[in-house]
Amino acid sequence: MIRGTTTVFAVIGDPVRHSLSPVLHNAAFLAIGLDAVYVALTVKDGQATAALAGMRDLGIAGLSVTMPHKTAIARAVDEVSDDVRVLDSANTVVRLPNGRLRGESTDGPGFLDALAAARVNVSGARCLVFGAGGAGRSVILALARAGASDIGVVNRSDERAAAAVSLAGGVGRRTSADAVIDAEIIVNATPFGMGLADGELPFDPHRLAPGQVVNDLVYHPVDTPLLVAARSAGATTVDGLGMLLHQAGRQCALWTGSTAPLDAMRRALLAELALRRQP
Ligand code: NAP
Repeated sequence: MIRGTTTVFAVIGDPVRHSLSPVLHNAAFLAIGLDAVYVALTVKDGQATAALAGMRDLGIAGLSVTMPHKTAIARAVDEVSDDVRVLDSANTVVRLPNGRLRGESTDGPGFLDALAAARVNVSGARCLVFGAGGAGRSVILALARAGASDIGVVNRSDERAAAAVSLAGGVGRRTSADAVIDAEIIVNATPFGMGLADGELPFDPHRLAPGQVVNDLVYHPVDTPLLVAARSAGATTVDGLGMLLHQAGRQCALWTGSTAPLDAMRRALLAELALRRQP
């Protein structure tokens, strides 16, 4: 029940009404037994700093941050984590006990958690990442930090490709989709599979073989055309819900100091997705 004592958390973005974050975090608060509620707030482009001031004044306890505010928030908070500084992007704001607002980025660690949950070992692995946008950059940094031996980046635009490759330090290089043959872990961090031209995939899945892992970050639909094709080629597949769940779990832990109740969060997520699939 929402009372006078209830603490408020929120996600800010635009658009944000479709966000699954309220489902995940309200399920977590319920499972933990926390007197808190999580809402979605539409914040227009250019208003991130004003939203942060509102967070301070209204006593909002924590924020998730989505498009188009991740960079503006990274630059407006009082302090940032190493990942936020390197990525110039924050997806989380934590109110510290001293009142300072700290920017965090849980996408990369959440991505690694999802691979670990699928028993995929990143250390020493040859990786290939399609995409160099916000998600791709987080993934590349996370793979490098987790000890990948080689990180190929495939991206349409030159500038973003070069910036993403530099995140991988000595193990990063720009490459083409042909590199699929040699990669052990392949990550799709482009929107292919999410309403782009029918049948369009980031690479030819016929080039895959058993032993390779394909992680599609797209989660709408959950079983993307890429994952279906990768499975029929014998590859191991990891869907995008894992990263979504685990990055939220990391946010929950940062805000509450409690271990995230991942099972309750996953159940709520799947129930919501089933509802949304109904005509
Ligand atoms: P973004 O910042 O807009 O980046 C999109 C990337 O895809 C860029 O590298 C872009 O290339 C490339 N791209 C877009 N359209 C393309 C096309 N027609 N042909 C070739 N390349 C194209 O988006 P994002 O935030 O990184 O998200 C990327 C995907 O990951 C989305 O599908 C999103 O839903 C998913 N995602 C999932 C999670 C999760 O928790 N599972 C989290 C975040 C994102 P250019 O650099 O050339 O523009």
